[in-house]
Amino acid sequence: MGNQKVGDAIHLWGLPAVTTCPGMTSVCQGVCYALRSRFRFQTVKDRLAWNLEQTERDDFCGRMTKEIRRKGCLVLRVHSSGDFMSKEYAEKWLWIMRKCPKPRYFWYSRSWRIPEIATVLEQMAALKCCRAWYSLDSETGIPEKIPPGVKLAYLQVSEDTPPEMIDLMFRVRRLRKQPRPRIGLTILPVCPNEVNKEITCGGCQRCFS
Ligand code: SF4
Repeated sequence: MGNQKVGDAIHLWGLPAVTTCPGMTSVCQGVCYALRSRFRFQTVKDRLAWNLEQTERDDFCGRMTKEIRRKGCLVLRVHSSGDFMSKEYAEKWLWIMRKCPKPRYFWYSRSWRIPEIATVLEQMAALKCCRAWYSLDSETGIPEKIPPGVKLAYLQVSEDTPPEMIDLMFRVRRLRKQPRPRIGLTILPVCPNEVNKEITCGGCQRCFS
């Protein structure tokens, strides 16, 4: 529960990055926070590997729903690291969300690039309890189809121009002091935590409200 970015009141579920990211690009891999700092500690690596092992168990869904209820989760970020690695795994989360719709779930994913996983993500996005973000960057391009309920988050790592229809931008540290990017008269929304660390997700709520 909680970290510096999301604040104290949000629960997190993570998996090892890269190996569980079938929609990964060279852009996101190159700047992935889940390969740096505390994610390099053996204890964190072990914990994420343990989480991954749990996803392979037949009773993963039942145990996760019990855990969500027992902890009284109000907001759950699915994948503070890692992603929906397969259709079967995404279906497990779809089952959990349907079975246990009380918390607000939110996730960002590049697995929309894998058609068989995208079909499951679309079903999650249609749920009232879920806020779904497709992650984009200069390599992913724009999804051919943006299903109802899905919003777009763009990762900017250089001075490339993001697509106009995005709903949120994340920028690498080097770009964060620059003025907010605009396209024509439209000023693109950036994550406020990147400019002021005191604004946590719990305070901002943009991604899950
Ligand atoms: S926009 Fe707000 S809710 Fe979304 S990641 Fe940034 S701080 Fe968190």
